[in-house]
This record gives sequence, C-alpha cells and structure tokens, in this order.
Amino acid sequence: MFAILLISQMKTFTLKSELKSYLNGIRKDKIVSFIPTMGSLHEGHLSLLQKAKESSDVIVCSIFVNPTQFNNPSDLEKYPRTTEIDINILTEKKCTILYLPEASDLYQENEQAKQFDFGGLDNFMEGEGRKGHFNGVATIVEKLFRIISPEKAFFGEKDLQQLQIIKYISKQLQIPIEIIGIPTKREESGLAMSSRNKLLSETGIQKATLIYQTLKYIKENSDNFTVDQLKKIAIEKFSHQTDVNLEYLEIVSLEKLQPISEFKDANENAACIAASISSVRLIDNIIF
Ligand code: AMP
Repeated sequence: MFAILLISQMKTFTLKSELKSYLNGIRKDKIVSFIPTMGSLHEGHLSLLQKAKESSDVIVCSIFVNPTQFNNPSDLEKYPRTTEIDINILTEKKCTILYLPEASDLYQENEQAKQFDFGGLDNFMEGEGRKGHFNGVATIVEKLFRIISPEKAFFGEKDLQQLQIIKYISKQLQIPIEIIGIPTKREESGLAMSSRNKLLSETGIQKATLIYQTLKYIKENSDNFTVDQLKKIAIEKFSHQTDVNLEYLEIVSLEKLQPISEFKDANENAACIAASISSVRLIDNIIF
C-alpha cells in the first residue's frame, strides 16, 4: 500500500544525491525506466512515456538543457524552456519521478564534455555539422545513466544518430541498460514533433513539412531509382522552396549510419535531413 502510494504521485528532485537515495529505497523488485529530455515537452516525448509505462513500475524523466551538447551558444540560449507546464504535464501523465537539476548538480565548474569513440557513427550528418555535439550528449547520458541506473531507457528514433550512438556507448561502457528506440511522433502534416517547432511561425511550420514530404518520397521511390539519383531528386526539391535551407540530406545504412551507394534490405536504410527555417534547425529521418 505504501509502495503504491509512493509511486502514484510524482516526486521531483533537483539533487542527484537525493534522487539516488530515494531510488535505492524503492527500486527493489521494480523495473525502473528512464526518459531523458530537454523539456518543452510535446506528444513525441509523451509517446516515450506511454511506451515506458507498458513495461515499468517506476518512470524517471529528466529535464535538463545540457550545455555541453550545444556547439552554438545562441542555439542554447534560445532553446525553449517551459518548466512549469512540463511539470504539470508529467504529473498529469503519471510520471513517477522528475529529475530537474541545475547544471551545478551534474557538472563541475568549467567541466568540458568527455571525449568518446563512437566507432564512426558520428562521422556524418549531426557529427559533421555540430562538432562536439555527440560528446556532449554521451557525457550527459552517461552521467544520468550512472545516477539513475535504470533497467531500460527510452529514446526517440527522431534523433536516430543519437539513438544509435547511445546504444553503441552503452555496450562500450558495459552499462547494462536496455536502450529502446521509439518511432517518431508526427503532426498530421507529417512534420516531426519537436520542441524547436515552437520557435517557428505558422508559415515556417508549413514550409517545414517539405522535410517529411521529401523523406516519404525517398522511401516510396527506393525501388524506382538508384541511391544517387534519388538523392539528387530529393535535394532538388529543396532548391524550389524559399526559406528552407537544406544542411544535409543523406541516405545511409541504418546500422552504421554511413552513406550507401546501393540500397540495403528493407528496414536497413535511413534517409536523414537537417534543414533550417528562419534559423530554426530541424532534423528528421525515415527508416525503410
Ligand atoms: P529532447 O527533449 O529533444 O532532447 O528529446 C528527448 C527525447 O524525446 C529524445 O530521445 C528524442 O529523440 C525524443 N523525441 C523528440 N521528439 C520526438 C518525436 N517527435 N517522436 C518521438 N520521440 C521524440
């Protein structure tokens, strides 16, 4: 009865020491799942929570805008923050525990990201355009994993390269956490839900739908063209749309995330796009 009560109301922690000792007190015989976020929650985040609920007793969400993964200070500064609303959403959705730390609870003063070897998974796309980004991501995820020690952790396929990198480093570091990838939640228009969509105007949101339309086109036409032909046609689509600046469009192998010259078997390929609309940078991908 007491245990049920404990896990039926969301508890919020700002200090890792308190979170750890609380978890140690309740975790016996329970499956603890973890969902790291940067807040400004939307249905995409909630689909992770929903999935986690199906197979967990305790769900820990974290909200932390991690400075070491931003290579661009203005991107960090303008990243949307809606903490009060997020707390209400998580309470309503019956998240068990929220970890809401200040940077000082996770980083020493002037601490830099740890340097990781990602086995080449960071060679292209986000790894190329956002130098140091994945070292920052892996640094914070490793810290959070070691504090929370969940049985499972949920990540979105929306950040496909991040998902594959987290799977890879968890193995490398021998961290025994099951990493579960969840399909991308989309608006009716196909636009991938993202905290950054809040920074777009109505027109921007409409223009951004080109990203998913192009990804869908690639998936639907992979039997009709070679990889090179399809990539050219897809890139061409962006040259007709003003104000959508394509940063990259890659067709890669799902497992290694290296550009391919021939399609692999079904569900072993991914097309990935990064594009900016009014300097709001969006990423999306499709697996096929
Ligand atoms: P973020 O707060 O952007 O760091 O995202 C936290 C987690 O939610 C990451 O694992 C993301 O991949 C995931 N996520 C973000 N957007 C979506 C979406 N539209 N559908 C599913 N998962 C998502």
